[in-house]
Amino acid sequence: MIKSDNKIIIAIDGYSSSGKSTLAKEIAKLLDYKYIDSGAMYRAVTLFALKNTIINQKNHEVDEKKLQNLIDQIHINFKYNPEKKNQETYLNNENVESEIRNMKVSDNVSFISKIGFVRKKMVSFQQEMGNEKGIVMDGRDIGTVVFPNAELKVFMNAKAEVRAERRYQELKGNNVDVSYDEILQNVKKRDHIDETRDESPLKKAHDSVELDNSNMNRQEQLDWIIGLVKERIN
Ligand code: C5P
Repeated sequence: MIKSDNKIIIAIDGYSSSGKSTLAKEIAKLLDYKYIDSGAMYRAVTLFALKNTIINQKNHEVDEKKLQNLIDQIHINFKYNPEKKNQETYLNNENVESEIRNMKVSDNVSFISKIGFVRKKMVSFQQEMGNEKGIVMDGRDIGTVVFPNAELKVFMNAKAEVRAERRYQELKGNNVDVSYDEILQNVKKRDHIDETRDESPLKKAHDSVELDNSNMNRQEQLDWIIGLVKERIN
């Protein structure tokens, strides 16, 4: 555990499946900080949209009027599961942690996350969660929009094939029936939509530190970020 009374905000942004959440969780644990997965929130809204036939699964068209009318009925929160030693996502009091990771949600989430009023609601929720320091949040716009004053901003990337392979192994480990090619296509497509959308596109904040972890293991990445954290808290 790294001890310091000087608590900071750590923003970790980057491409799909670049290992943001793994690194964010590990550094949060070492610092005894809160970890928040902002992608889980967009995934939960997407699950709500799928369940309420707000998004067409074939052409990904969104009934924005219906979503706007129902958005205040969407309540998302996180609870710690001591058995799994993990934060789990709840949508209207239902544990949706595994459901939001399935391919149906992954295939649709970028069409929901590009909607301005959805982002506005998620960003204000995320800012509320971070109004005390001592937080690590990962996503796409954390360093640019949610916490532009974060003391440490990291921007992560790795080759698309490496990211897809890692995601494939993770899902296979959880017995999800999916092919490597399907994941590679999904990763590339999400990156493209996330980078080219009008509302808070995925981009590197000018003051963030870049990490390409294509050839790094978990410990090497952790050591790298520990060095940066120590510079910021001392
Ligand atoms: O991080 P994860 O891959 O779970 O995020 C799922 C999707 O949520 C991303 O592809 C992106 O469309 C959206 N997202 C976002 N802004 C964030 C976090 C995630 O737009 N801060």
